[in-house]
Amino acid sequence: MAEEMRVGCGWDRHALMTGETLMIGGIEIPGELGCKGHSDADAALHAVIDALLGAAGRGDIGQYFPSTDSRWEGASSSGMLESTLEELAKEGFRPVNLDLVVMIEKIRLDPHREKILGRIGELLPSCSVNVKFKTGDGMGPVGRGEAVEARAVVLLRKS
Ligand code: MG
Repeated sequence: MAEEMRVGCGWDRHALMTGETLMIGGIEIPGELGCKGHSDADAALHAVIDALLGAAGRGDIGQYFPSTDSRWEGASSSGMLESTLEELAKEGFRPVNLDLVVMIEKIRLDPHREKILGRIGELLPSCSVNVKFKTGDGMGPVGRGEAVEARAVVLLRKS
């Protein structure tokens, strides 16, 4: 039987505000700005989770971790990702490639690249991971510094 490969995309955006923690790819980014959300509001990992679910044909993050469910209040997005992977593994799906774009203005993520890659690598063992950091070039919610946005493309292999 031919090996089955599936691709999925994910997107997420969270508002930036003072006095909140900023989580990107499972890493806390120090500074004044952060995101408020039902979970730890890690837009990057949420985009990855949606890409994984999309590739597996399993809907979206809101179906598995609804904001109306108090179990996920303040939850770690790393834990949400792990539980998504366990769910997909039951059907034989395993991520082999991830390309992730994180867009944020003014906050430099480059110094945190190795930590972010390391953390995502721990969460997605044996998956090749690439991370890109972009700005909004002064335009849109990202460019005005109002939001952090993330896009992810994942390739799953089914065995
Ligand atoms: Mg989110």
